[in-house]
Amino acid sequence: MKSLEQLTRPNIWSLAPYSSARNEYAGREARVFLDANENPYNAPYNRYPDPLQLSLKDALSKVKGVPAENIFLGNGSDEPIDLVYRCFCRPQIDNVVAIEPTYGMYKVCADINDVEYRPVILDEHFQITAEKLLAATDDKTKLIWICSPNNPTGNHIVREEIEKVIQQFEGLVIVDEAYSDFSSQKTFRSEILNHPNLIVLNTMSKAWGCAAIRLGMAFASEEIIAIFNKVKYPYNVNLLTQQQALEALKDPFEVDKWVKILLEERSRMVDAFRLLPICEEVYPTDANFFLARMTDAPKIYNYLVDQGIIVRNRHRVQLCQNCLRITIGTKTENGELIAALRQFQ
Ligand SMILES: *Cc1c(COP(=O)(O)O)cnc(C)c1O
Repeated sequence: MKSLEQLTRPNIWSLAPYSSARNEYAGREARVFLDANENPYNAPYNRYPDPLQLSLKDALSKVKGVPAENIFLGNGSDEPIDLVYRCFCRPQIDNVVAIEPTYGMYKVCADINDVEYRPVILDEHFQITAEKLLAATDDKTKLIWICSPNNPTGNHIVREEIEKVIQQFEGLVIVDEAYSDFSSQKTFRSEILNHPNLIVLNTMSKAWGCAAIRLGMAFASEEIIAIFNKVKYPYNVNLLTQQQALEALKDPFEVDKWVKILLEERSRMVDAFRLLPICEEVYPTDANFFLARMTDAPKIYNYLVDQGIIVRNRHRVQLCQNCLRITIGTKTENGELIAALRQFQ
């Protein structure tokens, strides 16, 4: 791996971050807060929230098995996705490599930050080799994006290939594990202490059922986390989100129950799809959704919209011609989808 200084944009490396009122007294006991121009009335919403979300990180640390110092929290995973560009990629100079097809935000954020995006197409099993990804890199490649389980394909990327990329690439590797709670594969979270160039992303938006509160996580070396903290908005995670996330973390067994039900429903749905005459193939999935190749995806998509049922049309995505991406819902919702599809002609 190159040094973090070589990988970081020079302006970010030398950045003197904003020092918030609450940062400066940090850690010591205080009773009277006359430092931040807050209104003393309307507690608790009158006060700026903890800029480093320390109690939330403590709770997450226990659930995720990662030290609090190695956690960054953001406004959804979308925030750390954008931050890696802003911290490491010089506009119009550096580039990034990603598997294709994958989650659309990696490319959108590359475009916003004026950074070249190099997609590397998956094979017919939606897999990739380390060799192919590394062949797309050059000395200006700062990041490699690997989403596993991948969106929209649903499958996990072979672990040995991801490991090879992490070991052999000189820049940073981001493994987006938004769907890892649904996967039987081992998470890469536990690897961050062994690999200083690895960043793992998680989110509260999927298995945890908290998409509305916007809380995403990045796990990485303390040095990378320090760079993120320097660049982020000082109060990027608001009080309501921190409180609600703490509430959700009190009962991780609830999440386990949801995951178990959703996986049972997934297998029932996959079986039902395989029996539909209008379904040509259902692809292997490790997530709370699956990709199905249909006879005519756009037509079936529009038919479902007319019935008030929304799935994701991936027809225009590379390798996904005539594919619909189906999220697993409640037993009733899934039943409605299957019933509607059986009526399609
Ligand atoms: C849904 C999803 C996310 C989550 O994004 P949030 O901003 O945390 O809601 C991240 N990565 C992938 C691949 C996803 O599909």
